[in-house]
Amino acid sequence: MKRWLMDILACPRSDCRNKLRLEVYRSHNVEVEGSSSEEIDEALITCPKCGRWYPVIDGIACMLPDDLRMQGRQKSEETAFLERWKDRVPVDILKKGIPFGLTSQT
Ligand SMILES: [Zn+2]
Repeated sequence: MKRWLMDILACPRSDCRNKLRLEVYRSHNVEVEGSSSEEIDEALITCPKCGRWYPVIDGIACMLPDDLRMQGRQKSEETAFLERWKDRVPVDILKKGIPFGLTSQT
């Protein structure tokens, strides 16, 4: 995803819609017609209002409702994301992230 997308993204919760925060873990620059822009590969998106976190995995922001994130393949992909970046993800998200953290799976 492009970094400027963050300027228009809001929390997908209908009862929240707050502006989101972005912490980039991996990105690369793309040259397009002489100007370069940052393409974000992996990042953590957090909502300061409702406390949710959302991952950017392989350039795609995963901003699904809680119940869809809590099951099956989506949950294992997002858990793998936390595992991959656990040295950089804030401890409170790892421990008691919303809708889940790394320790809540056991
Ligand atoms: Zn929110």
